Amino acid sequence: MLVTAIILLFAAAAVFFFSPVVLSFGRWQSRRPSLALNAWLTALIGGLLLSVAAVIALIVGALNVQRGDAGPQVLVPWIAGWVALFAAGIAFAVVLSASDDFGRRLRAEVQVLRSRWTDWYVDSPFRIVTVDDDDPCACSLAGRPPEIYLSTGMRRVLSGDECAAIIAHEKAHILRRHNLILRAAAINSACLPRQLPVSRRFRASVLTLVEMIADDDAVQATSADAVRDALESIGRFSGDVSLRLRSLRLRRIHLGAG
Ligand SMILES: [Zn+2]
Repeated sequence: MLVTAIILLFAAAAVFFFSPVVLSFGRWQSRRPSLALNAWLTALIGGLLLSVAAVIALIVGALNVQRGDAGPQVLVPWIAGWVALFAAGIAFAVVLSASDDFGRRLRAEVQVLRSRWTDWYVDSPFRIVTVDDDDPCACSLAGRPPEIYLSTGMRRVLSGDECAAIIAHEKAHILRRHNLILRAAAINSACLPRQLPVSRRFRASVLTLVEMIADDDAVQATSADAVRDALESIGRFSGDVSLRLRSLRLRRIHLGAG
């Protein structure tokens, strides 16, 4: 039982460490962002199942020892079982704290946004809220009803079609539950040593993937031109290079140019 548990634990650790490494290397992800994200989520669930199986194997080993013969040789599985339970408790606490951290930041941002609303309308099931802010920005909040926030700066910088493209992009974030995916990424990232470059790169990769997936959905709902123009206009205004890169990606994929 002890050997099985150790193999399972090593397999789980390998999955938790190597799936972010694979996800953040290379350029294939920009062509298939959904595939990349689903592959990582599948690996994450696999890693979790392996960890649970390992802890169960260790605890079962410890319980069997308690019922069996006494002697110095039975101490190893007994200690291993209870150390596993203790480690599982610590891991659970780390997960809760990373998750709570993420939720706290989100709640603080939403509070600021809600205090600045100027206008809203219902686009069932969504509530589209305009907030008073000169910077062009948009974000979404899953809830009842799900809300999409667009700044007055965004409305000023973008045309009607471009605003519709951004709203479609934000709707995609809500419909695909990207908030939960980003929360899972924050937790997986908390399992990696902070000083490793892969830890930072991994979170950035997941963020980029969900943005690309939402861009692709917005293209389906509106048009490639509208999404691309919107990204370029906001990028020009904010100086955010990533928006320009996302626009170039859409040009390459959806317009077959460049
Ligand atoms: Zn987005």
